[in-house]
Amino acid sequence: MADTSLDPSLDPSRMPPSLWADTAFPAPLSSALAPGDHAADLIVIGAGFTGLSTALHAAERGARVVLLEAAEIGWGASGRNNGQVIPAMTRADPDVIVNAFGAEKGEVLVSLIGGSGNALFELARKHRIECAALQNGWIQPAHRASRMALAQSRFEQWKKRGFDVELVDRERAWSLIGSNFWFGGWQNLTGGHINPLAFVRGLARAAQAAGASIHTRSPVTDIARVGDAWRVSTPQAFVSAPRVLIATHAYSGALAELGAASPWPALPNTLLPMRSYQLATQPLPPELRATILPHGHAMSDTHGDLHLARFDETGRLLTGGALIVPFGYESRLRKRLAARLVRMFPQLEGWPLRFDYLWHGNFAVTPDGLPRFATLGNGLFAWMGCNGRGVALSTALGPALTETLFANDPADSALPFEPMRRIAAHSLVKRTAIAAMMVYRWRDARD
Ligand SMILES: Cc1cc2nc3c(=O)[nH]c(=O)nc-3n(C[C@H](O)[C@H](O)[C@H](O)COP(=O)(O)OP(=O)(O)OC[C@H]3O[C@@H](n4cnc5c(N)ncnc54)[C@H](O)[C@@H]3O)c2cc1C
Repeated sequence: MADTSLDPSLDPSRMPPSLWADTAFPAPLSSALAPGDHAADLIVIGAGFTGLSTALHAAERGARVVLLEAAEIGWGASGRNNGQVIPAMTRADPDVIVNAFGAEKGEVLVSLIGGSGNALFELARKHRIECAALQNGWIQPAHRASRMALAQSRFEQWKKRGFDVELVDRERAWSLIGSNFWFGGWQNLTGGHINPLAFVRGLARAAQAAGASIHTRSPVTDIARVGDAWRVSTPQAFVSAPRVLIATHAYSGALAELGAASPWPALPNTLLPMRSYQLATQPLPPELRATILPHGHAMSDTHGDLHLARFDETGRLLTGGALIVPFGYESRLRKRLAARLVRMFPQLEGWPLRFDYLWHGNFAVTPDGLPRFATLGNGLFAWMGCNGRGVALSTALGPALTETLFANDPADSALPFEPMRRIAAHSLVKRTAIAAMMVYRWRDARD
Protein backbone atom coordinates (compact mmCIF):
# COMPACT_ATOMS: atom_id res chain seq x y z
CA MET A 1 0.00 0.00 0.00
CA ALA A 2 1.37 3.45 -0.93
CA ASP A 3 2.44 5.74 1.92
CA THR A 4 0.30 8.76 1.13
CA SER A 5 1.36 10.69 4.24
CA LEU A 6 4.39 12.14 2.47
CA ASP A 7 3.07 12.65 -1.03
CA PRO A 8 -0.16 14.62 -1.44
CA SER A 9 -0.53 13.46 -5.08
CA LEU A 10 -1.20 9.95 -3.72
CA ASP A 11 -3.73 10.90 -1.03
CA PRO A 12 -7.30 9.96 -2.04
CA SER A 13 -8.81 11.83 0.91
CA ARG A 14 -8.35 15.16 -0.90
CA MET A 15 -7.69 16.65 -4.34
CA PRO A 16 -3.99 16.62 -5.18
CA PRO A 17 -2.56 20.12 -4.91
CA SER A 18 -1.99 21.48 -8.42
CA LEU A 19 -2.38 24.60 -10.51
CA TRP A 20 -5.80 23.28 -11.51
CA ALA A 21 -6.94 22.70 -7.92
CA ASP A 22 -6.10 26.37 -7.23
CA THR A 23 -7.82 27.79 -10.31
CA ALA A 24 -10.83 25.61 -11.26
CA PHE A 25 -14.30 26.56 -10.02
CA PRO A 26 -15.51 24.34 -7.15
CA ALA A 27 -16.88 20.86 -7.83
CA PRO A 28 -20.66 20.52 -7.90
CA LEU A 29 -22.15 19.11 -4.71
CA SER A 30 -22.13 15.34 -4.40
CA SER A 31 -22.26 12.88 -1.54
CA ALA A 32 -21.60 9.21 -0.83
CA LEU A 33 -24.22 6.74 -1.97
CA ALA A 34 -26.81 6.42 0.81
CA PRO A 35 -26.91 3.07 2.63
CA GLY A 36 -29.31 0.52 1.17
CA ASP A 37 -30.19 -1.11 -2.14
CA HIS A 38 -30.56 1.05 -5.26
CA ALA A 39 -31.46 0.36 -8.89
CA ALA A 40 -30.36 2.05 -12.12
CA ASP A 41 -30.25 1.53 -15.88
CA LEU A 42 -26.51 2.16 -15.95
CA ILE A 43 -23.77 2.22 -13.31
CA VAL A 44 -20.59 4.11 -14.16
CA ILE A 45 -17.50 3.61 -11.98
CA GLY A 46 -15.03 6.52 -11.95
CA ALA A 47 -15.60 10.28 -12.29
CA GLY A 48 -13.05 11.24 -14.92
CA PHE A 49 -13.66 12.34 -18.51
CA THR A 50 -14.66 8.79 -19.57
CA GLY A 51 -17.15 8.17 -16.77
CA LEU A 52 -18.68 11.65 -16.80
CA SER A 53 -18.97 12.01 -20.57
CA THR A 54 -20.72 8.63 -20.70
CA ALA A 55 -22.94 9.46 -17.71
CA LEU A 56 -23.89 12.75 -19.37
CA HIS A 57 -24.77 11.21 -22.73
CA ALA A 58 -26.67 8.29 -21.16
CA ALA A 59 -28.64 10.63 -18.86
CA GLU A 60 -29.46 12.85 -21.84
CA ARG A 61 -31.18 9.90 -23.50
CA GLY A 62 -33.33 9.40 -20.40
CA ALA A 63 -31.42 6.59 -18.65
CA ARG A 64 -31.24 6.41 -14.84
CA VAL A 65 -27.51 6.72 -14.28
CA VAL A 66 -25.65 6.19 -11.01
CA LEU A 67 -21.97 7.16 -11.07
CA LEU A 68 -19.73 5.99 -8.22
CA GLU A 69 -16.36 7.65 -7.57
CA ALA A 70 -13.97 6.46 -4.87
CA ALA A 71 -12.46 9.89 -4.19
CA GLU A 72 -13.52 13.21 -5.76
CA ILE A 73 -14.69 14.32 -9.21
CA GLY A 74 -11.55 14.48 -11.37
CA TRP A 75 -9.32 12.98 -8.66
CA GLY A 76 -7.66 10.64 -11.19
CA ALA A 77 -5.79 11.60 -14.36
CA SER A 78 -8.61 13.84 -15.58
CA GLY A 79 -8.11 16.48 -12.90
CA ARG A 80 -4.31 16.56 -12.96
CA ASN A 81 -3.09 16.31 -16.56
CA ASN A 82 -1.44 18.94 -18.77
CA GLY A 83 -4.77 19.82 -20.39
CA GLN A 84 -3.48 19.43 -23.94
CA VAL A 85 -6.34 18.59 -26.29
CA ILE A 86 -4.63 16.28 -28.79
CA PRO A 87 -6.67 14.64 -31.54
CA ALA A 88 -4.08 11.86 -32.06
CA MET A 89 -2.58 8.95 -30.13
CA THR A 90 1.06 8.82 -29.07
CA ARG A 91 2.31 5.87 -31.11
CA ALA A 92 -0.82 4.40 -32.69
CA ASP A 93 -1.11 6.35 -35.92
CA PRO A 94 -4.22 5.99 -38.12
CA ASP A 95 -2.79 3.24 -40.37
CA VAL A 96 -1.61 1.27 -37.31
CA ILE A 97 -5.10 1.48 -35.79
CA VAL A 98 -6.75 0.31 -39.02
CA ASN A 99 -4.26 -2.56 -39.28
CA ALA A 100 -4.96 -3.61 -35.72
CA PHE A 101 -8.76 -3.33 -35.67
CA GLY A 102 -9.71 -3.82 -39.32
CA ALA A 103 -10.93 -1.40 -41.96
CA GLU A 104 -14.42 -0.87 -40.54
CA LYS A 105 -13.96 -0.49 -36.78
CA GLY A 106 -10.43 0.83 -37.21
CA GLU A 107 -11.60 3.72 -39.40
CA VAL A 108 -14.45 4.48 -36.96
CA LEU A 109 -11.92 4.73 -34.14
CA VAL A 110 -9.57 6.87 -36.25
CA SER A 111 -12.46 9.27 -37.05
CA LEU A 112 -13.34 9.41 -33.39
CA ILE A 113 -9.75 10.24 -32.41
CA GLY A 114 -9.32 12.74 -35.25
CA GLY A 115 -12.61 14.43 -34.35
CA SER A 116 -12.01 14.34 -30.60
CA GLY A 117 -10.68 17.92 -30.38
CA ASN A 118 -13.81 19.34 -31.99
CA ALA A 119 -15.99 17.03 -29.87
CA LEU A 120 -14.43 18.27 -26.62
CA PHE A 121 -14.56 21.97 -27.46
CA GLU A 122 -18.13 21.61 -28.75
CA LEU A 123 -19.17 19.96 -25.47
CA ALA A 124 -17.52 22.76 -23.47
CA ARG A 125 -19.42 25.36 -25.53
CA LYS A 126 -22.73 23.49 -25.38
CA HIS A 127 -22.66 23.19 -21.60
CA ARG A 128 -21.00 26.61 -21.07
CA ILE A 129 -18.12 25.05 -19.15
CA GLU A 130 -15.68 27.75 -18.04
CA CYS A 131 -12.44 25.86 -18.46
CA ALA A 132 -10.15 28.39 -20.20
CA ALA A 133 -10.68 26.46 -23.43
CA LEU A 134 -8.44 27.61 -26.29
CA GLN A 135 -8.74 25.81 -29.66
CA ASN A 136 -5.76 27.34 -31.44
CA GLY A 137 -4.04 24.14 -32.50
CA TRP A 138 -1.75 21.43 -31.18
CA ILE A 139 1.69 21.11 -32.71
CA GLN A 140 4.14 18.21 -32.74
CA PRO A 141 7.58 19.49 -33.73
CA ALA A 142 10.40 17.16 -34.79
CA HIS A 143 13.37 17.25 -32.41
CA ARG A 144 15.79 15.88 -35.03
CA ALA A 145 15.86 16.36 -38.79
CA SER A 146 15.35 12.59 -39.16
CA ARG A 147 12.02 12.79 -37.26
CA MET A 148 10.55 14.93 -40.06
CA ALA A 149 9.81 11.66 -41.87
CA LEU A 150 7.55 10.72 -38.95
CA ALA A 151 5.89 14.17 -39.01
CA GLN A 152 5.34 13.85 -42.76
CA SER A 153 3.85 10.38 -42.41
CA ARG A 154 1.49 11.48 -39.61
CA PHE A 155 0.45 14.55 -41.58
CA GLU A 156 -0.30 12.41 -44.68
CA GLN A 157 -2.26 9.78 -42.75
CA TRP A 158 -4.55 12.41 -41.21
CA LYS A 159 -4.73 14.57 -44.36
CA LYS A 160 -5.91 11.73 -46.59
CA ARG A 161 -8.76 11.19 -44.13
CA GLY A 162 -9.80 14.83 -44.42
CA PHE A 163 -8.59 16.20 -41.06
CA ASP A 164 -7.48 19.78 -40.55
CA VAL A 165 -3.71 19.24 -40.38
CA GLU A 166 -0.65 21.06 -41.69
CA LEU A 167 2.95 20.04 -42.35
CA VAL A 168 5.22 22.79 -41.07
CA ASP A 169 8.78 23.49 -42.16
CA ARG A 170 11.50 24.75 -39.83
CA GLU A 171 10.78 28.45 -40.46
CA ARG A 172 7.07 28.03 -39.78
CA ALA A 173 7.68 25.89 -36.68
CA TRP A 174 9.97 28.65 -35.41
CA SER A 175 7.26 31.27 -35.90
CA LEU A 176 4.52 29.08 -34.29
CA ILE A 177 6.63 27.96 -31.34
CA GLY A 178 9.01 30.86 -30.89
CA SER A 179 12.15 28.71 -30.98
CA ASN A 180 14.40 27.12 -33.59
CA PHE A 181 15.12 24.16 -31.29
CA TRP A 182 12.98 22.01 -33.64
CA PHE A 183 13.30 21.05 -37.31
CA GLY A 184 9.70 21.52 -38.43
CA GLY A 185 6.78 19.20 -37.65
CA TRP A 186 3.02 18.96 -38.12
CA GLN A 187 0.03 20.51 -36.47
CA ASN A 188 -3.63 19.67 -36.00
CA LEU A 189 -5.59 22.91 -36.04
CA THR A 190 -8.51 21.47 -34.04
CA GLY A 191 -6.35 20.79 -30.95
CA GLY A 192 -5.69 23.20 -28.12
CA HIS A 193 -5.79 23.26 -24.35
CA ILE A 194 -8.11 23.53 -21.35
CA ASN A 195 -8.05 23.66 -17.57
CA PRO A 196 -8.79 19.94 -17.19
CA LEU A 197 -10.13 20.02 -13.64
CA ALA A 198 -12.54 22.83 -14.54
CA PHE A 199 -13.62 20.85 -17.59
CA VAL A 200 -14.22 17.59 -15.70
CA ARG A 201 -16.16 19.45 -13.00
CA GLY A 202 -18.20 21.13 -15.74
CA LEU A 203 -18.98 17.72 -17.24
CA ALA A 204 -20.15 16.58 -13.78
CA ARG A 205 -22.44 19.59 -13.46
CA ALA A 206 -23.86 18.95 -16.94
CA ALA A 207 -24.40 15.25 -16.14
CA GLN A 208 -26.21 16.13 -12.91
CA ALA A 209 -28.37 18.65 -14.77
CA ALA A 210 -29.27 15.88 -17.24
CA GLY A 211 -30.38 13.69 -14.30
CA ALA A 212 -27.34 11.54 -13.47
CA SER A 213 -26.73 10.78 -9.76
CA ILE A 214 -23.06 11.30 -8.97
CA HIS A 215 -21.71 9.88 -5.73
CA THR A 216 -18.20 10.69 -4.54
CA ARG A 217 -16.51 8.97 -1.56
CA SER A 218 -18.13 5.80 -2.87
CA PRO A 219 -15.40 3.28 -3.70
CA VAL A 220 -16.65 0.24 -5.55
CA THR A 221 -15.45 -2.87 -3.78
CA ASP A 222 -17.15 -5.62 -5.75
CA ILE A 223 -19.14 -6.33 -8.92
CA ALA A 224 -21.20 -9.52 -9.03
CA ARG A 225 -23.70 -10.99 -11.46
CA VAL A 226 -27.05 -11.53 -9.71
CA GLY A 227 -29.82 -12.79 -11.99
CA ASP A 228 -30.08 -10.51 -15.05
CA ALA A 229 -28.22 -7.62 -13.46
CA TRP A 230 -24.87 -6.56 -12.05
CA ARG A 231 -24.79 -5.86 -8.32
CA VAL A 232 -22.18 -3.26 -7.50
CA SER A 233 -21.08 -2.84 -3.88
CA THR A 234 -19.68 0.13 -2.00
CA PRO A 235 -18.78 -0.14 1.70
CA GLN A 236 -22.23 1.14 2.70
CA ALA A 237 -24.60 0.40 -0.20
CA PHE A 238 -25.47 -1.63 -3.31
CA VAL A 239 -26.69 -0.65 -6.77
CA SER A 240 -28.04 -3.02 -9.40
CA ALA A 241 -28.23 -2.37 -13.13
CA PRO A 242 -28.19 -4.38 -16.35
CA ARG A 243 -25.12 -2.49 -17.60
CA VAL A 244 -21.92 -1.19 -16.03
CA LEU A 245 -19.03 0.86 -17.38
CA ILE A 246 -15.76 0.57 -15.48
CA ALA A 247 -14.04 3.92 -16.11
CA THR A 248 -11.23 3.60 -13.57
CA HIS A 249 -8.49 3.52 -16.24
CA ALA A 250 -4.93 3.92 -14.83
CA TYR A 251 -6.35 4.08 -11.28
CA SER A 252 -7.83 0.57 -11.55
CA GLY A 253 -6.69 -1.14 -8.39
CA ALA A 254 -4.79 1.93 -7.19
CA LEU A 255 -7.07 2.82 -4.30
CA ALA A 256 -6.49 -0.10 -1.99
CA GLU A 257 -6.37 2.23 1.01
CA LEU A 258 -10.09 2.99 0.41
CA GLY A 259 -10.93 -0.70 0.40
CA ALA A 260 -11.28 -0.52 -3.40
CA ALA A 261 -8.44 -2.82 -4.43
CA SER A 262 -10.07 -3.40 -7.81
CA PRO A 263 -13.75 -4.07 -8.36
CA TRP A 264 -12.75 -6.30 -11.31
CA PRO A 265 -9.52 -7.87 -10.09
CA ALA A 266 -8.06 -8.83 -13.48
CA LEU A 267 -8.44 -5.34 -14.95
CA PRO A 268 -5.19 -3.87 -13.58
CA ASN A 269 -3.34 -6.69 -15.37
CA THR A 270 -4.35 -5.26 -18.75
CA LEU A 271 -2.42 -2.01 -18.44
CA LEU A 272 0.80 -0.44 -17.20
CA PRO A 273 0.31 2.66 -15.06
CA MET A 274 2.95 5.33 -15.81
CA ARG A 275 3.65 8.29 -13.57
CA SER A 276 3.89 11.69 -15.24
CA TYR A 277 5.03 14.83 -13.39
CA GLN A 278 3.57 18.25 -14.15
CA LEU A 279 5.11 21.63 -13.38
CA ALA A 280 3.96 25.23 -13.79
CA THR A 281 6.22 28.29 -13.62
CA GLN A 282 5.36 31.65 -12.15
CA PRO A 283 3.57 33.92 -14.70
CA LEU A 284 5.95 35.14 -17.38
CA PRO A 285 6.20 38.90 -17.97
CA PRO A 286 4.07 39.80 -21.05
CA GLU A 287 7.04 40.71 -23.28
CA LEU A 288 8.69 37.32 -22.62
CA ARG A 289 5.41 35.43 -22.80
CA ALA A 290 4.75 36.94 -26.27
CA THR A 291 7.90 35.27 -27.67
CA ILE A 292 6.93 31.67 -26.73
CA LEU A 293 4.05 29.78 -28.38
CA PRO A 294 2.77 33.21 -29.47
CA HIS A 295 -0.49 31.86 -30.94
CA GLY A 296 -1.40 29.87 -27.82
CA HIS A 297 -0.62 26.38 -29.19
CA ALA A 298 -0.28 23.30 -27.06
CA MET A 299 2.95 21.51 -27.96
CA SER A 300 4.40 18.04 -27.40
CA ASP A 301 7.29 16.97 -29.60
CA THR A 302 8.68 13.74 -31.06
CA HIS A 303 11.02 12.92 -28.15
CA GLY A 304 10.17 9.57 -26.52
CA ASP A 305 11.07 11.42 -23.32
CA LEU A 306 8.43 13.96 -24.28
CA HIS A 307 9.23 17.68 -24.33
CA LEU A 308 5.98 19.59 -23.90
CA ALA A 309 4.73 23.09 -23.18
CA ARG A 310 1.64 25.27 -23.04
CA PHE A 311 0.54 28.40 -21.22
CA ASP A 312 -2.36 28.88 -18.83
CA GLU A 313 -4.53 31.99 -18.84
CA THR A 314 -2.24 33.90 -16.50
CA GLY A 315 0.94 33.29 -18.50
CA ARG A 316 2.33 30.40 -16.46
CA LEU A 317 4.32 28.02 -18.66
CA LEU A 318 3.34 24.39 -18.04
CA THR A 319 5.55 21.46 -18.81
CA GLY A 320 6.01 17.89 -17.65
CA GLY A 321 8.17 14.81 -17.72
CA ALA A 322 8.91 11.35 -16.43
CA LEU A 323 11.61 9.99 -14.14
CA ILE A 324 13.15 6.54 -14.04
CA VAL A 325 13.74 6.74 -10.28
CA PRO A 326 10.87 8.46 -8.43
CA PHE A 327 12.65 9.03 -5.10
CA GLY A 328 13.50 12.62 -4.24
CA TYR A 329 11.69 13.77 -7.38
CA GLU A 330 10.95 17.32 -6.18
CA SER A 331 14.42 18.82 -6.40
CA ARG A 332 15.66 16.69 -9.32
CA LEU A 333 12.69 17.56 -11.51
CA ARG A 334 12.84 21.26 -10.79
CA LYS A 335 16.48 21.37 -11.91
CA ARG A 336 16.11 19.02 -14.83
CA LEU A 337 12.99 20.62 -16.32
CA ALA A 338 14.16 24.20 -15.76
CA ALA A 339 17.31 23.37 -17.76
CA ARG A 340 15.20 21.65 -20.42
CA LEU A 341 12.86 24.64 -20.76
CA VAL A 342 15.85 26.94 -21.28
CA ARG A 343 17.17 24.59 -23.99
CA MET A 344 13.74 24.58 -25.65
CA PHE A 345 13.25 28.34 -25.31
CA PRO A 346 16.64 30.09 -25.06
CA GLN A 347 14.88 33.42 -24.42
CA LEU A 348 14.28 32.12 -20.85
CA GLU A 349 18.03 32.14 -20.17
CA GLY A 350 18.84 34.56 -17.37
CA TRP A 351 15.19 34.96 -16.32
CA PRO A 352 14.67 33.83 -12.69
CA LEU A 353 12.49 30.86 -13.66
CA ARG A 354 10.89 29.01 -10.76
CA PHE A 355 8.19 26.38 -10.57
CA ASP A 356 5.25 27.40 -8.38
CA TYR A 357 3.51 24.04 -8.84
CA LEU A 358 4.64 20.43 -9.08
CA TRP A 359 2.32 17.42 -8.95
CA HIS A 360 1.97 14.02 -10.57
CA GLY A 361 -0.54 11.46 -11.80
CA ASN A 362 -0.84 8.15 -13.63
CA PHE A 363 -1.89 7.31 -17.16
CA ALA A 364 -2.31 3.85 -18.67
CA VAL A 365 0.11 2.46 -21.22
CA THR A 366 -0.32 -0.70 -23.30
CA PRO A 367 2.66 -2.59 -24.72
CA ASP A 368 1.63 -1.90 -28.35
CA GLY A 369 0.44 1.68 -27.74
CA LEU A 370 -3.11 0.79 -28.83
CA PRO A 371 -6.20 1.52 -26.75
CA ARG A 372 -8.21 -1.42 -25.41
CA PHE A 373 -11.99 -1.79 -25.45
CA ALA A 374 -12.82 -4.72 -23.20
CA THR A 375 -16.03 -6.71 -22.86
CA LEU A 376 -15.86 -8.17 -19.35
CA GLY A 377 -19.29 -9.79 -19.24
CA ASN A 378 -22.85 -9.38 -20.47
CA GLY A 379 -23.36 -5.59 -20.30
CA LEU A 380 -20.05 -4.97 -18.49
CA PHE A 381 -17.44 -2.90 -20.34
CA ALA A 382 -14.21 -0.95 -19.86
CA TRP A 383 -11.81 1.02 -22.03
CA MET A 384 -8.17 1.66 -21.16
CA GLY A 385 -4.85 2.53 -22.65
CA CYS A 386 -4.91 6.23 -23.50
CA ASN A 387 -1.10 5.98 -23.63
CA GLY A 388 -0.87 9.58 -22.44
CA ARG A 389 -3.42 11.02 -24.88
CA GLY A 390 -6.81 10.76 -23.25
CA VAL A 391 -8.11 14.27 -22.61
CA ALA A 392 -9.91 14.56 -25.93
CA LEU A 393 -10.39 10.85 -26.59
CA SER A 394 -11.97 9.86 -23.25
CA THR A 395 -14.38 12.76 -23.60
CA ALA A 396 -15.22 12.00 -27.22
CA LEU A 397 -15.85 8.33 -26.38
CA GLY A 398 -18.90 9.18 -24.24
CA PRO A 399 -21.52 8.95 -27.01
CA ALA A 400 -20.04 5.76 -28.57
CA LEU A 401 -19.71 4.04 -25.18
CA THR A 402 -23.33 4.98 -24.42
CA GLU A 403 -24.43 3.45 -27.75
CA THR A 404 -22.57 0.24 -26.91
CA LEU A 405 -23.96 0.04 -23.38
CA PHE A 406 -27.56 0.39 -24.61
CA ALA A 407 -27.23 -1.65 -27.83
CA ASN A 408 -29.39 -4.76 -28.17
CA ASP A 409 -26.29 -6.63 -29.26
CA PRO A 410 -22.96 -5.14 -28.08
CA ALA A 411 -21.27 -6.99 -30.97
CA ASP A 412 -22.84 -4.24 -33.10
CA SER A 413 -20.73 -1.65 -31.29
CA ALA A 414 -18.90 0.70 -33.63
CA LEU A 415 -15.91 0.41 -31.28
CA PRO A 416 -13.50 -2.56 -31.43
CA PHE A 417 -14.62 -4.30 -28.23
CA GLU A 418 -12.98 -7.65 -27.54
CA PRO A 419 -12.37 -9.92 -24.52
CA MET A 420 -9.96 -8.50 -21.97
CA ARG A 421 -6.27 -8.95 -22.91
CA ARG A 422 -4.01 -9.51 -19.90
CA ILE A 423 -0.35 -8.59 -20.15
CA ALA A 424 1.78 -11.70 -19.73
CA ALA A 425 4.08 -11.61 -16.66
CA HIS A 426 2.29 -8.38 -15.71
CA SER A 427 3.95 -7.67 -12.38
CA LEU A 428 7.42 -8.12 -13.88
CA VAL A 429 6.60 -6.02 -16.97
CA LYS A 430 5.06 -3.34 -14.72
CA ARG A 431 8.19 -3.13 -12.59
CA THR A 432 10.47 -2.84 -15.60
CA ALA A 433 8.24 -0.68 -17.85
CA ILE A 434 9.74 2.58 -16.64
CA ALA A 435 13.10 1.33 -17.90
CA ALA A 436 11.65 1.94 -21.36
CA MET A 437 12.43 5.59 -20.61
CA MET A 438 16.14 4.72 -20.78
CA VAL A 439 15.61 3.26 -24.24
CA TYR A 440 13.59 6.34 -25.30
CA ARG A 441 16.36 8.67 -24.13
CA TRP A 442 18.97 6.61 -25.94
CA ARG A 443 16.91 6.63 -29.16
CA ASP A 444 16.02 10.32 -28.80
CA ALA A 445 19.67 11.18 -29.09
CA ARG A 446 20.36 8.90 -32.05
CA ASP A 447 17.66 8.26 -34.64
C1 LIG B 1 0.10 13.85 -15.34
C2 LIG B 1 -0.70 13.52 -16.57
C3 LIG B 1 -0.64 14.36 -17.68
C4 LIG B 1 -1.42 14.07 -18.80
N1 LIG B 1 -1.47 14.98 -19.83
C5 LIG B 1 -2.30 14.75 -20.87
C6 LIG B 1 -2.46 15.73 -21.87
O1 LIG B 1 -1.94 16.85 -21.80
N2 LIG B 1 -3.25 15.43 -22.95
C7 LIG B 1 -3.90 14.23 -23.05
O2 LIG B 1 -4.59 13.99 -24.05
N3 LIG B 1 -3.82 13.29 -22.06
C8 LIG B 1 -3.07 13.55 -20.98
N4 LIG B 1 -3.02 12.64 -19.95
C9 LIG B 1 -3.92 11.46 -20.01
C10 LIG B 1 -5.36 11.82 -19.59
O3 LIG B 1 -5.34 12.63 -18.45
C11 LIG B 1 -6.16 10.55 -19.31
O4 LIG B 1 -6.15 9.75 -20.48
C12 LIG B 1 -7.62 10.79 -18.97
O5 LIG B 1 -7.75 11.75 -17.96
C13 LIG B 1 -8.27 9.47 -18.55
O6 LIG B 1 -9.56 9.76 -18.08
P1 LIG B 1 -10.45 8.62 -17.44
O7 LIG B 1 -11.76 9.22 -17.09
O8 LIG B 1 -10.50 7.46 -18.36
O9 LIG B 1 -9.66 8.15 -16.14
P2 LIG B 1 -9.35 8.95 -14.77
O10 LIG B 1 -9.50 10.40 -14.94
O11 LIG B 1 -8.04 8.46 -14.27
O12 LIG B 1 -10.52 8.51 -13.80
C14 LIG B 1 -10.56 7.28 -13.13
C15 LIG B 1 -11.32 7.49 -11.83
O13 LIG B 1 -11.67 6.22 -11.29
C16 LIG B 1 -11.69 6.35 -9.88
N5 LIG B 1 -11.62 5.01 -9.27
C17 LIG B 1 -10.59 4.14 -9.27
N6 LIG B 1 -10.94 3.00 -8.62
C18 LIG B 1 -12.23 3.16 -8.21
C19 LIG B 1 -13.15 2.34 -7.51
N7 LIG B 1 -12.83 1.12 -7.09
N8 LIG B 1 -14.40 2.82 -7.26
C20 LIG B 1 -14.76 4.06 -7.70
N9 LIG B 1 -13.92 4.88 -8.36
C21 LIG B 1 -12.67 4.43 -8.63
C22 LIG B 1 -10.46 7.22 -9.59
O14 LIG B 1 -10.54 7.84 -8.32
C23 LIG B 1 -10.52 8.22 -10.75
O15 LIG B 1 -11.16 9.43 -10.39
C24 LIG B 1 -2.23 12.89 -18.84
C25 LIG B 1 -2.26 12.04 -17.72
C26 LIG B 1 -1.52 12.36 -16.60
C27 LIG B 1 -1.58 11.46 -15.40
